[in-house]
Amino acid sequence: MGISACAVCDGSSPLFRNHPVAVIGGGDVAMEEALFLARYASKVYIVHRFDHLESSVVMARRAMAHPKIEVVWQHEALEAFGKEDGTLAGIRIRDRRNGEVSDLAVNGLFFAIGHAPATAFLDGQVELDSGGYIVTPPGSTATSVPGVFAAGDVMDRKWRQAITSAGAGCIASMEAQHFLQARQESGAATLVPAVALDAAWAAQVKAATAAAEQQGSGDKAAPATAVPMSS
Ligand SMILES: Cc1cc2nc3c(=O)[nH]c(=O)nc-3n(C[C@H](O)[C@H](O)[C@H](O)COP(=O)(O)OP(=O)(O)OC[C@H]3O[C@@H](n4cnc5c(N)ncnc54)[C@H](O)[C@@H]3O)c2cc1C
Repeated sequence: MGISACAVCDGSSPLFRNHPVAVIGGGDVAMEEALFLARYASKVYIVHRFDHLESSVVMARRAMAHPKIEVVWQHEALEAFGKEDGTLAGIRIRDRRNGEVSDLAVNGLFFAIGHAPATAFLDGQVELDSGGYIVTPPGSTATSVPGVFAAGDVMDRKWRQAITSAGAGCIASMEAQHFLQARQESGAATLVPAVALDAAWAAQVKAATAAAEQQGSGDKAAPATAVPMSS
């Protein structure tokens, strides 16, 4: 007990309040996790393999300026060890410069080393982005394949929360219903063709996604852009 992959989900637990915790990673997610944890923990160690952070400058500055946050440079975590009651006692870390192994006493360990969406099974049938997330236009769960909708962690680069996944699931069910209704009304067969990739539609999805990213929203969904569904 005491190991988590989500500071926002678990960081405020009494397990970590006023106790030292560690975050493994050196990117934006690690900085964000560390800053969130610093609200509750007595001390936040960022254990990072390199001598420089890989996050954006602004996030790095914010984290480095926080009095409770300390970066443990050029160290990698080897193992976590616990107390008799099953809670975390600390982590064993190795200095990459000289191989020296030491223990860091922490009550919490948070991973911020990336997230791999479980989309391999799609095997290229639906468009994915460079991180393996299913591409959907802002404000919609439509995918590159008409009639296939994606919701939850497989299409959400940023939030990946139970409630946002449930919300996306709700949108997906309504979009699927509208899709079937539109097909029925247009006289088309109600069955969705297996992989009927409409190139024009896919281009619109791409353009809408690129436009949202260009607006500086990054992973954050921009206001919904109307993308007509092909029938
Ligand atoms: C340790 C941890 C703590 C978390 N704590 C919180 C929290 O406190 N609050 C919060 O809001 N969020 C929390 N989250 C995030 C939250 O759990 C996820 O955002 C949410 O579960 C995503 O829902 P989902 O339906 O997209 O995916 P999942 O809940 O992962 O469901 C995916 C389902 O698809 C199934 N599946 C996978 N591949 C296939 C396949 N090929 N064929 C058929 N089925 C398949 C899986 O078995 C699974 O049942 C936490 C996550 C983790 C890992």
